[in-house]
Amino acid sequence: MSLISPWRADFPALAILESQGQTYLDSAATSQKPQALIDALTGYYTCGTANVHRAQHLPAERATRAFEDARIKVARWLNASSPTEIVFTRGATEALNLLAYGLEHLIEAEDEIVISALEHHANLLPWQQLARRRGARLVVLPIDTHGMIDLEAAAGLIGPRTRLLAVSQLSNVLGTWQPLAELLPLAKQQGALTVVDGAQGVVHGRHDMQAMACDFYVLSSHKLYGPEGVGALYGRGESLLKLKHWQFGGEMVRVADLTHADFHAAPLGFEAGTPPIGSIIGLGAILDYLSKLDAAAVTGHEQALHMKLLAGLEVRDGVKLLCAPQTALASFTVEGVHHSDLAHLLAEQGIAVRSGTHCAQPLMKILGIDGAIRVSLGLYNDGVDLERFFGALDHSLDLLR
Ligand code: PMP
Repeated sequence: MSLISPWRADFPALAILESQGQTYLDSAATSQKPQALIDALTGYYTCGTANVHRAQHLPAERATRAFEDARIKVARWLNASSPTEIVFTRGATEALNLLAYGLEHLIEAEDEIVISALEHHANLLPWQQLARRRGARLVVLPIDTHGMIDLEAAAGLIGPRTRLLAVSQLSNVLGTWQPLAELLPLAKQQGALTVVDGAQGVVHGRHDMQAMACDFYVLSSHKLYGPEGVGALYGRGESLLKLKHWQFGGEMVRVADLTHADFHAAPLGFEAGTPPIGSIIGLGAILDYLSKLDAAAVTGHEQALHMKLLAGLEVRDGVKLLCAPQTALASFTVEGVHHSDLAHLLAEQGIAVRSGTHCAQPLMKILGIDGAIRVSLGLYNDGVDLERFFGALDHSLDLLR
């Protein structure tokens, strides 16, 4: 498999960054954008904007159609059974907060909300707050030495008081796919609802919601080469019916008077106020772009790059991977070197990687570290990016040790 990315030229920022001596290896934080997205956004803003679902005039009709087309595209991308199962949000974080408020009425004192030890703060704090509000217990599933949620422990911890299980699909720190096929049924057997944080997983491969059998799945567009400020909540039809409305305002209401209001069902009932229309249309355009790529070639390229990344890290003295990552990223520490010093030196040499706790402080504590360097790959990265990274890593380590 060649380590040249045939898609790199689709992303104009890569050439500009390269001309500035920058090598972008931080796509798990956010991704660069293809020309197809820039064209779609330019087209929308150039041709005349309008608010959606409100007016009869032509620009409004056009915007509403493009907006609802984007919903259909997200539904198709996830193989949802209907576009009405897709609620647009401002991102994965907002989708998780929506769930934590929308499901609050189902949680009683002493009930259990189950998460795992490797969750991003976005899939920890909304549940921690919900547990506090309701006097419920937050139960944390441990992880094993492979960076996977420990299924044996999970079988013991998920029980009759479990009302909800919320876990990541792909860890943003460890790069490990979580054993959802085994885990979700453990919660289902107890009659609990299941939430999957797909913020990282959605970027790698297509995921079929009907096959995954979760109740809810959340994603952010900006990690998937799309615009910031937009994400989606997938909810199985009957599961969406369980949600209480959480944000109130324009367009989510059927009728309102001064004392009473009757709200729309999902999706519109959960999209109060003017949504980020251009960004949602952009998300649709990204899915069009991605749909035209050879998915097997993208996966093959990402895997080949990932293997090169791991092989290079493994042969370097003192470099310690947090665990064996499976996809598109690698997090590591270096003996005797602080991660922020190393990230600083790498940045000085034009290498864009992330250092710190990666919004997963409890996981860092369990691992006994105060942070790590994370190198993460997008479909536009190539072998030269990795060679530049390793050159800069060696130089930095020579300086630091
Ligand atoms: N979950 C995971 C696993 C993530 O990596 C992120 C983003 N770093 C989020 C949730 C939150 O996504 P956003 O900041 O786009 O809402």
